[in-house]
Amino acid sequence: MDAAFFAGWLRRAAELIEADSERLTRLDAAIGDGDHGLNLNRGFSAAVAALPALPDDTVPGKVLIAAGRAIVSKTGGASGPLYGGALRAAGKALGDAPDVDEAALGAALRAALDGIQGLGQAAMGDKTMVDALAPAVDAYEQALRRHGDPAACAEAAAEAAAHGAVATVPLQARKGRASYLGTRSIGHEDPGAASTVLLMRALADAAAG
Ligand code: ADP
Ligand code: MG
Ligand code: MG
Repeated sequence: MDAAFFAGWLRRAAELIEADSERLTRLDAAIGDGDHGLNLNRGFSAAVAALPALPDDTVPGKVLIAAGRAIVSKTGGASGPLYGGALRAAGKALGDAPDVDEAALGAALRAALDGIQGLGQAAMGDKTMVDALAPAVDAYEQALRRHGDPAACAEAAAEAAAHGAVATVPLQARKGRASYLGTRSIGHEDPGAASTVLLMRALADAAAG
């Protein structure tokens, strides 16, 4: 997977976020402040807009770092620094390699999760994006151990993220704005978990070619 692959992932992510922006905002209106779709739409549009400025011989790591920087600077709310920081951490993990195999991509996804947890201090079950991303990274690594190709690993990640997001519904939020609601956060899907599903679906789509 080369720089063009990663640019394609980001473009697909921006498309899926735009298409689902109203749903993300609706989820956030129920247990937050109703800006998640707007925040991510702005952030991922900025990430895509930053891509043409990269040199033709850029590498995957630089693509993710540039996207992460754009998201941090353009996205309001908790999700901006969390997703932007995650992409930067993933980009750093990829280093200067011009081509990335499925194992390196798995390590980058693990670094993204570590970045989110390092910054936000959310554990599994706190009803955040971690509840979708952690099982996605686990599933990716499991598929990798079964010698899955990038498409199989990314598909496993996308499916696990979707299950993880649905599993946030009965949980009480312990991090972010939703935690201010206490038990009233129960019964709603976490918007950040829902957007993580889109990011993993975009990766699976990009890997399927
Ligand atoms: P804000 O809540 O500041 O308006 P967003 O609406 O863009 O920001 O994002 C909300 C999402 O961010 C939540 O649904 C949750 O998934 C995620 N989130 C919030 N705080 C944390 C945290 N400490 N760790 C991980 N994810 C978090
Ligand atoms: Mg919000
Ligand atoms: Mg907000």
